[in-house]
Amino acid sequence: MASQAQLIDGKVIAEKIRQEARDILARVRAEGRNVHVAVVSASDDPASRMYVARQCADFAAAGIDAAVRELPGGATEAEVIDAVEGLNRDGGVTGIVLALPLPGGIDVRRVQERIRPSKDIEGVHPQNLGMTALGRQRAGPSTAQAVIEAIDATGIDVCGKEAVIVGRSQIVGKPVALMLIERRVTVTVCHTATRDLAGHTRRAEILVAAAGRPEVITGDMIREGAVVIDVGINRVTRPDGARRTVGDVEFEAARARAGWITPVPGGVGPVTVAVLLRSAVSAALAADR
Ligand code: NAD
Repeated sequence: MASQAQLIDGKVIAEKIRQEARDILARVRAEGRNVHVAVVSASDDPASRMYVARQCADFAAAGIDAAVRELPGGATEAEVIDAVEGLNRDGGVTGIVLALPLPGGIDVRRVQERIRPSKDIEGVHPQNLGMTALGRQRAGPSTAQAVIEAIDATGIDVCGKEAVIVGRSQIVGKPVALMLIERRVTVTVCHTATRDLAGHTRRAEILVAAAGRPEVITGDMIREGAVVIDVGINRVTRPDGARRTVGDVEFEAARARAGWITPVPGGVGPVTVAVLLRSAVSAALAADR
């Protein structure tokens, strides 16, 4: 029987990060200060509203004040930017989250650029992405930080290793590439225009799958012993009609070849949530007095 990869347990990593967040929160409170996150939302879609409500509940459960700055689903770009700028000026607000999607016609990047960088706890402002390029790991997007945390949890020395990242998005592929380069990893970034994806992934000692395509990485595309980090969250309907959440990696087949692997769900997802909590309290600690 083929040996099975060790599971990288996102819940265990998330708990370590949540403890770090609690420690930072205690320091913020000891200084007589508060953490207050505003979630800007402009959607009439019940699923988006539910997601935002759950995010606020997550903050609250971690002892962080959070409130929704709710705009109508038909809000304009100027109105969303106005809301963001009001929160930038509000000394009581220490962190801003921009809930996506925004109404059609709004340029998300233009809105993200208006968030004050010190309150940008999701790490999406160009200044924070620039800091990531300069090697400040904790400035970057939460999901990218979560990927690094998951790799670190294996305890392997990544220096000199071959990493392949599938996906080149602003919030995952690109910042993960920058963070790994900083750690002296040899990085290849694949995307939809890549020829021979499998030729690249089979070289990967570290494989980060962030394509958003269910099980696009099949078992035969995995190098023996690789660290496989599956960022994808895809809802699929199985032939028997059952709805399931799967990653970008064909889990069982990959598990038979990999050395370490993150499950979906229970891998990168909970780590990302914990990273956002840590970023929220860190921003409050660093805030101007
Ligand atoms: P995105 O759609 O912005 O980017 C996907 C990238 O993958 C693109 O660069 C595209 O070129 C590439 N790609 C798509 N299909 C490909 C293929 N067949 N071969 C090679 N490259 C391909 O997505 P994103 O926002 O980066 O998110 C990626 C996935 O991660 C999604 O499933 C998303 O739901 C998930 N996600 C998970 C978390 C988490 O906390 N676990 C957070 C954010 C996003």
